[in-house]
Amino acid sequence: MIRPCEVGAAVAASRMETVEKRIGEPSRERLDGAESALAEPRQSVVVAGRYTGGVNADHDRLPPTRWESWNPVTGCTKVSEGCRHCYAERFAERWRGIPGHHYEHGFDLQLRPERLEVPLHWKRPRRVFVDSMGDLFHESIPDDYVREVFDVMKGAPQHVFHVLTKRADRMLALAPSLPWPPNVWMGVTVESGRHAARANALRRVPAAIRHVSAEPLLGPLDALDLTHIDLVIAGGESGPGRRPPQPDWLRGLRDRCVAASVAFAFKGWGGSSQSEGGRLLDGREWRQSPPLPFAHGGPIQQPLF
Ligand code: SF4
Repeated sequence: MIRPCEVGAAVAASRMETVEKRIGEPSRERLDGAESALAEPRQSVVVAGRYTGGVNADHDRLPPTRWESWNPVTGCTKVSEGCRHCYAERFAERWRGIPGHHYEHGFDLQLRPERLEVPLHWKRPRRVFVDSMGDLFHESIPDDYVREVFDVMKGAPQHVFHVLTKRADRMLALAPSLPWPPNVWMGVTVESGRHAARANALRRVPAAIRHVSAEPLLGPLDALDLTHIDLVIAGGESGPGRRPPQPDWLRGLRDRCVAASVAFAFKGWGGSSQSEGGRLLDGREWRQSPPLPFAHGGPIQQPLF
């Protein structure tokens, strides 16, 4: 069920999120920058709820070095085996039933319109993980709301937005009605060969950069067609009940990326924590990335993580 939350003031949202941080929110959910938005003097103007420009010209040319999460929607439902140990669900459900908590309703799908414009107020360029606490193309999110999220990304060319979905069919269905600015990197999760067809949908979307997330990697991806894919990010699962990847699955995927000149990044083997297993694959780190767009002084290569 969608629970549109009340459109509150940014200050109120910021206070609420600060409390979350104090009680131990992990880094993946990075307050959506609400605190930093307040800390940085605004050089832009918001009229009738919409950004009207004014990005600092110097900052606009800097490459983004900091990752941020931005969650204009939170909550989701499971679609495939990669969801079994959904980190976002585990995190959100910890707070279910706590009155006034941001995740009082746990992992139920909620639109968060009060967060829509947060990235417009981040002055310094960032890499932004869109909906780390859900899936923007969830079937219960209204089309117009998805379009609003894309409009915000288009209005914030200083950032690079990374959108990731397992709902490739809906992404493809909505694609013609969405703007596709060069700062939006669109990705699908392909955790095993069973879901390689998600990449077929991605290939038909006019995103500047198309990426495949093979995380958690649960099987060999020999069936994954890398045509028109710019980046593959692979990684093992972390946390209770984790399903470790086999080294040969990763080697095979890496070798195919190298042969096809597709950027390859390896986030690590996973373990009881994300960093436990380390991130070396055959003795080296893999942190390749496609070049950043010209808006960031590009094309320049910048390691992803
Ligand atoms: S699609 Fe993503 S956010 Fe949704 S349940 Fe699956 S892993 Fe969690």
